[in-house]
Amino acid sequence: VASRETRAEPTCVTALDLKIGGGHIGVIAGPCSVESEEQLLTSARAVKAAGATGLRGGAFKPRTSPYAFQGLKEDGLKLLAAARDETGLAVVTEIMTPGHIDLLVKYADVLQIGARNMQNYHLLQAVGDAGKPVVLKRGPSATMDEFLLAAEYILDRGNSQVVLCERGVRTFETHTRFTLPLASVPYLQQRTHLPVLIDPSHGTGIASLVPPMAAAAVAVGCDGLMVEVHPEPSKALSDGAQSLTPNVFAEMMETCRTVASSL
Ligand code: PEP
Ligand code: MN
Repeated sequence: VASRETRAEPTCVTALDLKIGGGHIGVIAGPCSVESEEQLLTSARAVKAAGATGLRGGAFKPRTSPYAFQGLKEDGLKLLAAARDETGLAVVTEIMTPGHIDLLVKYADVLQIGARNMQNYHLLQAVGDAGKPVVLKRGPSATMDEFLLAAEYILDRGNSQVVLCERGVRTFETHTRFTLPLASVPYLQQRTHLPVLIDPSHGTGIASLVPPMAAAAVAVGCDGLMVEVHPEPSKALSDGAQSLTPNVFAEMMETCRTVASSL
C-alpha cells in the first residue's frame, strides 16, 4: 500500500497547520522530553516564532537506563496540550504501548512510534486503528524493507497518514551517536508515496552537526525535519548534547528556507 505503484501522487500528512509531503516541508521541533511548564512553553514559543508548525516533546520516554528520567507521563501530555492551545502548534509525542492509546489520543495530534518500537507490531496496529497521523521512526538496525513493512502494518488498518522518519542507523562509527543516511530521502521517495522526515538530532547526537545536516536534508528533498530544541541544553534531562538553543534553531531555519527556495 505504501508503494508508488499503488499511488503515484505523494501523500501529504496533515495535523492543524503541520503539513508534511506533497510539496510541503513540515518542521517539528521542541525538547526531547517535556520537563516543566516553563521549559515547554519557552521552547514552543521559540520554535513557532522560527517557523515550526509541529511541537515535539516526550512524556513517556524510552530511556536506555531504567534509572534515567522516564518522562512526566500524563502531566507532560497536559503541558503539551496547553502549549498547543496557546501556540496552535500540532503536538507530536511518542506512544510506547497499545495500553496508552486512549490517553495519547486525548492529548496528541500526531503519534510518534520510536525507533525502538518500529517492529512492535501490536503497537503499529493500535496506532493504525487510532486514526491519528503517525510519525514512524526507523529502527537503528532496520533495513528499508523492514521499515516499509512496518509502515504497512499501520496502512493496513486503513490509516494512510504515515510519515517515515530517518533518525540514523547503527554502524561501526562511534564519533557520532548514529550515522545519518541522507540517501534514505530520495530512495524512499522513489519507492513510496509516503513523506520522509529527517531527524538530524538523533541522527548525529551532536548539536553543532544538526544545522548542516538539516540543510543537507532539505537539499536532497526531504518532506520535513524533526529537531530537538531546549532553552538551556546543558540542563536538559535527556539529549542535551544534541539539542539546539532557540537562537541556533532560528538560524538553522533561515538557512533551510534559503536552501529550499533554491531547489
Ligand atoms: C526521541 O524522539 O526523543 C526519541 C527517543 O527518538 P528515537 O526513537 O529516534 O530514538
Ligand atoms: Mn531525544
